[in-house]
Amino acid sequence: MQAVRLLRANQLELQDIPEPEPGPEDVVIAVEACGICGSDRHMYAGEYPTNPPVTLGHEFAGRVIATGSQVQRVQTGDLVTGDPNIACGTCPQCRNGRPNLCANLTAIGVQRDGGFAQYLVMPQAQAHKLPRHTDPVHAAFCEPLACCLHALDVASIRPGDSVAILGGGVIGLLMVQLCRLAGATTIILSTRQKPRRDLALQLGATHAIDPQARDAVGQIKAIVPQGADVALECAGVPDTFSQSIASVRRGGAAIIFGVMPQGQAVSIEPFDLLVNEIRLEGAYLNPLTHARAAALVASRTLALDSLVSRIVPLAEVPAIIASAPAQGEIKIIARPSL
Ligand SMILES: [Zn+2]
Ligand SMILES: [Zn+2]
Repeated sequence: MQAVRLLRANQLELQDIPEPEPGPEDVVIAVEACGICGSDRHMYAGEYPTNPPVTLGHEFAGRVIATGSQVQRVQTGDLVTGDPNIACGTCPQCRNGRPNLCANLTAIGVQRDGGFAQYLVMPQAQAHKLPRHTDPVHAAFCEPLACCLHALDVASIRPGDSVAILGGGVIGLLMVQLCRLAGATTIILSTRQKPRRDLALQLGATHAIDPQARDAVGQIKAIVPQGADVALECAGVPDTFSQSIASVRRGGAAIIFGVMPQGQAVSIEPFDLLVNEIRLEGAYLNPLTHARAAALVASRTLALDSLVSRIVPLAEVPAIIASAPAQGEIKIIARPSL
């Protein structure tokens, strides 16, 4: 079968490899769609730990074509989305209800073979069923959605809250929609690209600001003078990190979601955090949120088609991951059947 294999840092190739066989607790799926993610670019560049040679792709959905002898939760023909993060279930973090912090976490498409392939094998526990008629392209959004849901859980957004979303990529545009569903009444998205600001307003943002036009924090405080209840940092750059702390009200929460390269430092003033009781918290991966993401996709509550820039065959994936995102690109989805 065809698979996009990371052989070592900066070497990613479409290869022909044997089809996977299920163990007793495994399911094999024919991958129908797999999203290309910023994390794939970090893995390609050697900036995020992987286990080469390995097939990338952690945002996948597909049709079950074979099941192991002990599998009872899914059947051949089911459409499933895979939670890529396999927690051990027995380490102190897992036993404390924090599977995303598992000491032995193994991720599909990172440490073991993922979804940029015709077929994929995973433990049945990672598979979440979707209605069979669900658009597989929508199903491929379950993983990033599940991560966004965790950020909303950490933020504890309440009906009537104001939220500043810093970064207008696919994550920021999913956050806009989720914040609206959570009941936020002021939703401010900050991004440099005008088409993304326009799209954010269509998707439920009440305000869209250009951080290059004027100071982003000043613009946010012109809308919510006391500061936003919650800031969601969704760009993973020093500017948005600093803005997230500066744009929330006293007692507000700044949630760090974007990935900055390991080793990169940003200066903060502890005095500000102290006297304003600002809650600065990270939201990492998708602990126990994948089922809710699948339910959201199944319900067709979210606008996802407008986030898809291109749908490509596997053969185009290596070049896309090896290059920086194109201007205006939001989400590219690979479909092995193309
Ligand atoms: Zn991802
Ligand atoms: Zn564990």
